[in-house]
Amino acid sequence: MAYIARCKCGGVVMATVDNPDHQKENAKEIARCVRDGLTIERVSVEYVRSKECVLGCVCPKEPKTTKNSDQGSLFVRQEAP
Ligand SMILES: [Zn+2]
Repeated sequence: MAYIARCKCGGVVMATVDNPDHQKENAKEIARCVRDGLTIERVSVEYVRSKECVLGCVCPKEPKTTKNSDQGSLFVRQEAP
């Protein structure tokens, strides 16, 4: 299983595999996402890899970028020009 943090736009801005070895880090990451107002969902890893799972925020405005989460992040952050 995996955890995803979904933005209000429906885009998935964080995804992490529910690995028992990383439970502590995941718990921290998830807590931070909750604070950022994201919706946490527990989904299958297959879902995360599927087309259904839209990675990245598609909000009109630039979202709050997740701070210091380069590690384990599935996404390459794009800097604004
Ligand atoms: Zn969004």
